[in-house]
Amino acid sequence: MGVPVRRFDAVIVGGGGAGLRAALQLSEAGLKTAVLSKVFPTRSHTVAAQGGISASLGNVQEDHWQWHMYDTVKGSDWLGDQDAIEFMCRTAPDAVVELEHFGMPFDRLENGKIYQRPFGGHTQHNGKTPVQRACAAADRTGHAMLHTLYQRNVRANTQFFVEWMALDLIRDAEGDVVGVTALEMETGEIYVLHAKAVLFATGGAGRIYAASTNAFINTGDGLGMCVRAGLPLEDMEFWQFHPTGVAGAGVLITEGVRGEGGILLNANGERFMERYAPNLKDLAPRDFVSRSMELEVLEGRGCGPHKDHVLLKLDHLGPDIINQRLPGIREIAIKFAGVDPIKEPIPVIPTCHYMMGGIPTNYRGEVVAPKGDDPEVRVNGFYAAGECACASVHGANRLGTNSLLDLVVFGKSAGDSMIKYIREEMPTWKDLPADAADRSLARVARLDGQTGGEEVADVRAAMQRTVQSRAGVFRNDANLKLGVDEIAQVADRARLLQIKDKSKVFNTARVEALELENLVEVAVATLVAAEARKESRGAHAHDDYPKRDDDNWMKHSLFFGSDRSLRYKPVHTKPLSVDYIPPKERTF
Ligand SMILES: Cc1cc2nc3c(=O)[nH]c(=O)nc-3n(C[C@H](O)[C@H](O)[C@H](O)COP(=O)(O)OP(=O)(O)OC[C@H]3O[C@@H](n4cnc5c(N)ncnc54)[C@H](O)[C@@H]3O)c2cc1C
Repeated sequence: MGVPVRRFDAVIVGGGGAGLRAALQLSEAGLKTAVLSKVFPTRSHTVAAQGGISASLGNVQEDHWQWHMYDTVKGSDWLGDQDAIEFMCRTAPDAVVELEHFGMPFDRLENGKIYQRPFGGHTQHNGKTPVQRACAAADRTGHAMLHTLYQRNVRANTQFFVEWMALDLIRDAEGDVVGVTALEMETGEIYVLHAKAVLFATGGAGRIYAASTNAFINTGDGLGMCVRAGLPLEDMEFWQFHPTGVAGAGVLITEGVRGEGGILLNANGERFMERYAPNLKDLAPRDFVSRSMELEVLEGRGCGPHKDHVLLKLDHLGPDIINQRLPGIREIAIKFAGVDPIKEPIPVIPTCHYMMGGIPTNYRGEVVAPKGDDPEVRVNGFYAAGECACASVHGANRLGTNSLLDLVVFGKSAGDSMIKYIREEMPTWKDLPADAADRSLARVARLDGQTGGEEVADVRAAMQRTVQSRAGVFRNDANLKLGVDEIAQVADRARLLQIKDKSKVFNTARVEALELENLVEVAVATLVAAEARKESRGAHAHDDYPKRDDDNWMKHSLFFGSDRSLRYKPVHTKPLSVDYIPPKERTF
């Protein structure tokens, strides 16, 4: 093979919240565990999470995991799998208390308990009244969580490979996963990491859109690797637009601002959410608030010289609350919008924020794919958790603060499943196939040797323009059809990427090109799956099919990259221990 090989019991690709929680489980069980990350782990995107992590601790008001489950199922517009949702909501209080015991510095109430704030779609009594369920460390919850998990991993002897980029998944003749190939970014050397089990925790892919709250490293690498390895992607038509990105900059202003009492205003100074969601108002779920904002703008009530945004007002909270609970938000508003929210409202627009779809998994973190008539057969040795995975707890629309929860709940359960697999099902090593590194070597050689092709920046811009304009907050048939054709052309262009200035920025440029290949796989999946879904559900708001259609479309899509085809599989309607929550109209 001619490529150096390193061996670990478990290889985790991704050093964000999900990867670190899984790694901790494995390292503490005494397994030799490697974590690969393109950036230093504490710079992973989890660090940017602001508002909180949800759990029905009931520290401020009465709360129960069953109410959390109801909100999550309703938030998902009945596309979420109810077994996985029950597992997550039932486990949430223990998961948060565990983080507290790990040393995570949560904000405190007067009585010393963890502080909880209201968030969009969090309610008591199945939708009746808002509840304070989001456990917060000021507006830097992800930062606090990531540092806590990193330190625990250092203590547990997890081995970190920092600035290493996984390139491809290695499957043997039976289709079992036996490792990954990876690029050491500093040297440009390619390695094979041979493992008994591999977990992907590579985060989101929000960079397929031009306006996104996501970091530049969120390039969907795990999804690209799956597509190249012949595995499907689930529910890729569902992308969450966060209502409050800073207009013109895209940087996120947490929903926690509205949780603390901030309100949205249109050009007439009207608190318009009272019209759209009389009960939850500004704290309705994100898909709902984003669409309401877009309608205000489309109907001429937008603010500013171009009437293209609305305003988020929080000056009435007073400087004490803003400085104590939302210091990072004040900093962002001053830096990116040029306004001090203690005195003036922040201009905001809906911005791409979160990928509800991803690598199909069950609630044990095992990756599943169709085989014959069975839509969910485990792929041996392969696990996924966090934003890159689709368990599916978020369905068609994620509730705020359920992602940080998803990371720790499914990171841990995937870690447990891997331990069981490694110890009980795979006591001896499986051989690497002879061609383990060939695909990656060929990809890199093609990029290095390509002449006369296109610049990465040009193709990336074309991809982002296409996705932004064809698969935005509101969608329609004609636009989506155009989008499918346009993205196919972008994918053709991406096969001819050229790295022009090899002498100066060779590996950076190489990494960007490799990342773009992954982004394009995600963008194609998004447009193909969105064009096919003829209904409106959660974040997929279709002008030509404005209603949810449970008879025909209460099912998950599975996208296959080899022929860009789709299959569908049923939603899991059976929770683990409680009654099924039947679909009903989603009003707030
Ligand atoms: C601004 C912002 C605020 C948010 N606030 C909240 C909030 O308050 N509450 C909440 O619940 N959710 C929030 N979210 C969502 C949540 O933060 C993310 O969904 C979550 O942190 C993703 O965690 P992750 O572990 O899956 O991935 P990430 O934290 O993104 O980590 C991905 C890891 O994978 C690595 N990686 C990727 N590709 C490769 C590769 N090819 N090779 C090696 N390593 C690779 C990266 O280096 C990184 O270490 C927010 C999101 C944003 C954008």
